[in-house]
Amino acid sequence: MSTAAAGAVLVLNAGSSSLKYQLLHPDTQEVLADGIAERIGDEGSSITHEQDGEEITESLPLPDHHAAIERAMRFFADHGTDLRTAGLRAVGHRVVHGGRTFYRPTLISVEVIAEISRISTLAPLHNPANLIGIEAARSLLPDVPSVAVFDTAFFHSLPDAAATYAIDRGVASLHAIRRYGFHGTSHEYVSEQVAAFLDRPVGDLNQIVLHLGNGASASAIAGGRPIDTSMGMTPLEGLVMGTRSGDLDPGIVMHLNRVAKLGVDQIDTLLNKQSGLRGLCGEYDFRAITEKIAAGDDGARKAYDVYIHRLRRYIGAYMIELGRVDAITFTAGVGENAAGVRADALADLQNYGIIIDDERNALRGKHARRISADESTIEVLVVPTNEELAIARQSAEVVAEL
Ligand code: ADP
Repeated sequence: MSTAAAGAVLVLNAGSSSLKYQLLHPDTQEVLADGIAERIGDEGSSITHEQDGEEITESLPLPDHHAAIERAMRFFADHGTDLRTAGLRAVGHRVVHGGRTFYRPTLISVEVIAEISRISTLAPLHNPANLIGIEAARSLLPDVPSVAVFDTAFFHSLPDAAATYAIDRGVASLHAIRRYGFHGTSHEYVSEQVAAFLDRPVGDLNQIVLHLGNGASASAIAGGRPIDTSMGMTPLEGLVMGTRSGDLDPGIVMHLNRVAKLGVDQIDTLLNKQSGLRGLCGEYDFRAITEKIAAGDDGARKAYDVYIHRLRRYIGAYMIELGRVDAITFTAGVGENAAGVRADALADLQNYGIIIDDERNALRGKHARRISADESTIEVLVVPTNEELAIARQSAEVVAEL
């Protein structure tokens, strides 16, 4: 039996065809292993496992998430870690939609599974996959408590004015239509890291957090509580994303149906998978887009311009909503790495107290850092997100209360 994993948390993030996992200690932040299984249930599936400084990628049939977790468990066993007997504190699951029911990390039971399943209609692309991961982990690690951490939870307290769509109240209430917000674990974690970096209580700070990854969202946070966020009832609203459109005139959906004769599932796929940067220029990976722009590709440049335009619109709106802004923070793959996006998102805002220092912005690093100039009245920061750590900590807290 391995002792290194005693007290660790296994964090699982199950997507429709992928499964990301990480084994880590919530207190020391030590990561013991991580991995990803891809193309689950499809041709060409594979799994990559990293542990003890060794990374192995194996191509093998993975018919379902159960098979992926089983294979991961054998990788762990090869490294002397039997997950069933290692003394894990918890399995922490990322669950995308908590609906109106879940706004705290929740110990998983049969009743909780039934409720996550019931609210799956709100997130048909995400919650069913999360549930498959939960069921697989429960059957393979029956003695380890499972905890669900919801992507919507942090935004539960959004003020009504920000959470309400201007549609018929009865229809909205009957169908649970409101703005829930997503990436909450990241927005909460990053806003707390900002406070730690600035050595100020989170309750004293007004912040804008820009989570720019494949999915992207912005939030306005006053004194540690979110007052607005760009994603809505689903993760489709808001910023331009890798493959999602973000904000649209809802009339477009009717037009696509009536005139283009697309069915609802086709429109769903178009807006979620074939839009955003991919729809505009064929690429959704920001590194590839940056290379294309450098090579003079006009489509990539136009896609980039739409992306930046939308981002600036949200930053402007949140500055007004907050009234006073202490910090604007970039996080996630694009936010942490793409200096050009950061510079363009906040260019020419010196009249609003925002001045980026080009040298600081160009520096790379894995730690929280300031990229604003000393004379900038608003602090501009880059803070790496760590959703796995946040999920592990929240899961450990739930288990500690048992
Ligand atoms: P996810 O939403 O899937 O968790 P990530 O936060 O990992 O996404 O972000 C993925 C995005 O980050 C991709 O578009 C990728 O191109 C971009 N990215 C990663 N590294 C860099 C880099 N060095 N420069 C520009 N973009 C980057």
